[in-house]
Amino acid sequence: MSGPDAPEKRTLILVVDDDTAIRELVREALEHFQFAVVEARNGRDGVASFTAHKPDLVLMDVRMPEMDGFQATAALRQIPAAATTPILILTGLDDTDSIRRAYEAGATDFASKPINLFVLGHRVRYMLRAKRTVDDLRESEARLAHAQRIARLGNWERELKSGRMRWSDEMYRIFGVDPKTFTPNLQAYLELMQSQDRELVARATGEAVRQEGPYSFDARIVMPDGAVRHVHEQAEIVLDEDGTPLRLSGTTQDITERKQTEDQIRFLAYYDGLTRLPNRALFMERLNQALAAAQRQGRTLAMLFLDLDRFKRINDTLGHTFGDRLLQAVSERLKKCLRSTDTIARGDPLTSSDSVARLGGDEFIVTITDIARGEDAAKIAHRVLDSLNEPFKLEEHEVVVTGSIGISLFPHDGADVETLLKNADSAMYHAKDAGRGTYQFYSKSMNAAAFQRLALENALRKALEREEFMLYFQPQVDVSTGAIFGVEALIRWKHPDLGMVSPADFIPLAEETGLILPIGEWVLRAAGTQGKAWQDAGFGPLIVAVNLSGRQFRQQQLVQTVEEALQATGFDPHCLELEITESILVQSVDDTLTTLKRVRAMGLRVSVDDFGTGYSSLTYLRRFPIDTLKIDQSFTRDIATDAGDAAITAAIIAMSQGLKMAVIAEGVETEEQRDYLLQRGCRLMQGYLFGRPVPADQFRLLLEKQASGQKRPARAATRRRAAR
Ligand code: C2E
Ligand code: MG
Ligand code: MG
Repeated sequence: MSGPDAPEKRTLILVVDDDTAIRELVREALEHFQFAVVEARNGRDGVASFTAHKPDLVLMDVRMPEMDGFQATAALRQIPAAATTPILILTGLDDTDSIRRAYEAGATDFASKPINLFVLGHRVRYMLRAKRTVDDLRESEARLAHAQRIARLGNWERELKSGRMRWSDEMYRIFGVDPKTFTPNLQAYLELMQSQDRELVARATGEAVRQEGPYSFDARIVMPDGAVRHVHEQAEIVLDEDGTPLRLSGTTQDITERKQTEDQIRFLAYYDGLTRLPNRALFMERLNQALAAAQRQGRTLAMLFLDLDRFKRINDTLGHTFGDRLLQAVSERLKKCLRSTDTIARGDPLTSSDSVARLGGDEFIVTITDIARGEDAAKIAHRVLDSLNEPFKLEEHEVVVTGSIGISLFPHDGADVETLLKNADSAMYHAKDAGRGTYQFYSKSMNAAAFQRLALENALRKALEREEFMLYFQPQVDVSTGAIFGVEALIRWKHPDLGMVSPADFIPLAEETGLILPIGEWVLRAAGTQGKAWQDAGFGPLIVAVNLSGRQFRQQQLVQTVEEALQATGFDPHCLELEITESILVQSVDDTLTTLKRVRAMGLRVSVDDFGTGYSSLTYLRRFPIDTLKIDQSFTRDIATDAGDAAITAAIIAMSQGLKMAVIAEGVETEEQRDYLLQRGCRLMQGYLFGRPVPADQFRLLLEKQASGQKRPARAATRRRAAR
C-alpha cells in the first residue's frame, strides 16, 4: 500500500445520500477537514462502494430509493470489514422511533438534518478517535489473551461476599470447562480442585483479608477426564474506598509442565536412570537420617554392600546392553526379595523398596534400619544371595550371577555413613577373597556369632529327620503320700558335635524360625507314646505334662495337632497336660480363652508354667479354665531365706486354693524348701530333690521302684482313676 496508493492513506469517508446537493456540501465540508470522500446515491450503491473502498467511516442518509439507510446499515454490519466501522446516520426524522431503528440496524450515532456542516467535521473526527481507542483496546486485549494462552495463565476476580467470579478465557481452558455451561464462583471453583488442596483456598483467602496483602500457593486441579494438573495461584485483595475488602483479583497459571520438569530433574539427581533405584546421593541423604533415628532410639542398623561377581566378564562377552538389562533384572530381584521380609527385622524397614540403592556399576547397597541382632543381617544377606541363584533368562541367554556381600553394623562398626560404607566395602572384598557368592561381616566376632547361629539353625532344621531329639522325664510328686502322680516331658537335642543341647539354647531359635511347630508335634507324639507305654505296663494313669511354646499355642491347628497326636498314640486325653507359660497366656486374652476352652473340651488339663513371673491379673486367672499353677523355680529357690519370695509363694498357694486350682512348686532341691511348702499347704512338687529329668528307661526304674516298694502310691493312683 505505497506509491500510487499513497493518497488513499488519507482517512476516507463514504457519504451515502440520494440528494446530490447534500453530497456536494458534505464533501466540501469534509475535505476542508482533510478527509477524502467517496459518494454513493442510495443504500445499495453504498454497500457496493464500501466493499470497493473500505472507508473508515460512513455517513448514511435514511430515506433513499431502492435501499434505505436502515437496510443499508444492517447490510453493512453483515460485512466483516464493516463490523466495527462507525456509521453516522443523517436523518430528518428525529422521532424516537427512527433513532431506535437506527441503533437497532447497527448505527454508531445519528445526527439530524439540517446538518451543521462545521460541526459535522468535528463530529466525524471525534467518532474516528473513539473508534481508534476502542480498536487499540481490543487489540491490547487480544494481545493479552494471546499472551495468557501462551503462558497458560488466566486472570480472575472473586467477590468476597457472594463468591461470584469473573474468569478470563484462559481460565476456562486451564480448568477444561466450557464457558457456555460453567458459571464460575467459589463453590464451583473449589470443586475443580483436588479435595486435599481445597483448604488452601480458604486459608490463603483468610490470610489475605487479615493482612490486606497478596497470597500465592500451588494446588492440584482435576480435569474433567480425571487427569491431575498443577496450578500456581496468586491474588491480591481489592479494597473499597473505606478500606473494606471487596474482592480478590488474581491469576492462575498452569504449571504442570514445570512441575514435571522439576520432578524429572529430581529424579535425575536422586535416582539411577537404569534401574530406577535411589542413587548414591539419595542413599547418603536417607542413611544420614536413618542413622540419626537409630541413634535416638538405640537401634541397630545394618548395611549390606553387594557387588556382583565377575560382572565385567558378562559385559565384555555379552555386551553392555545385555549388561544393563541384567542390572535391571538384578535390581528387580533385590526389591522383590527384600519386600517379602519375614519377622527377622523388628520394625518393618523394608516396606519401602528404597532401602535398596545402586551405588554405580554393579554395586548395590541394602540398608536395614532395625534388626534385633547382627546375625539377622546375615539372614538377609543369605536371602539376597539366594535370590540371585535362580538363573536370569534374558534375550535367549541364560546367565547365572553370584554376588559378594560385605556387612557393617551401626553402631558397632561405625558411627557415620562414610565409615559404615567403607567398612562394608572392605568386608565385601573379604567375601570375594573367601570365594565369592558369600557374605562377610566387617567385624570378626560378628562373623563367628553369625556362623555359629546359622550353623545351629541348619543343624536344627535337620535334627528332626536325623532323629536327634529325645525326651527326658522328670517326676512330679505328691509329697503327702510320696507318690509320683505325674511327669514333665522335657526335650533334649543330641547334637552330633555339641552333645546334649539344652532347650534353653535352641527353643528360642526354633520359635523364631518356625521349626518349633514340627518339633512341638514330635514332642506331643513322643510324650503320648511314652505315656501310653507306661499305662500299658500297668503303672497307672500317670499325668504327662508337655510344654507348649508361644507360637505353638497361637497356631490355628493346635487342637487338630493335639487330636492327631492322641489318636496316633492312643493316649488318654485326660492324662495329657499342656504347660503354657504365664507370659504367653496373657498376650491376647480373648484368643487365649477360646483356645483354652477348646483344649479343655477335649479333656486335656492345662497348667500355667513359670507362674508368678508373667504379670497375669486375677481377673484373667478367674476367666481362664486352668487346672494347675506351677510356682516358678525362682521363688522356690530362695523360699527359706528371702522373705519376699516366701510371701509371694504363700500368696500363690492361697490364691490357687481360692480359685480351686491345683498348685505345684517347681525346682524343689532341698528338704527345707519341701517342708516350708508343705507347711503352707502345697503338696505337689517337682525338683531335683525327687528326681532329675532322665531318659524314659531310667524313669521307668523309678516307677517300678514305686510300684514294688510302696503299696500306697499305687493305691492312690487307682483311686484317682476310679474318681474319674
Ligand atoms: P520349664 O518348663 O520351666 O521346665 C523346668 C526346667 O527346670 C527344666 O529345664 C528342668 O530340667 C529344670 N529343673 C527341674 N527341677 C529343677 C531343680 O530342682 N533345680 C533346677 N535348677 N532346675 C530344675 P530344662 O529341661 O532345661 O528346660 C528348660 C525350659 O525349656 C523348660 O522350662 C521349658 O520352658 C522349655 N522346654 C523344655 N522342653 C520343651 C518342649 O518340649 N517344648 C517346649 N516348647 N519347651 C520346652
Ligand atoms: Mg514346664
Ligand atoms: Mg517352669
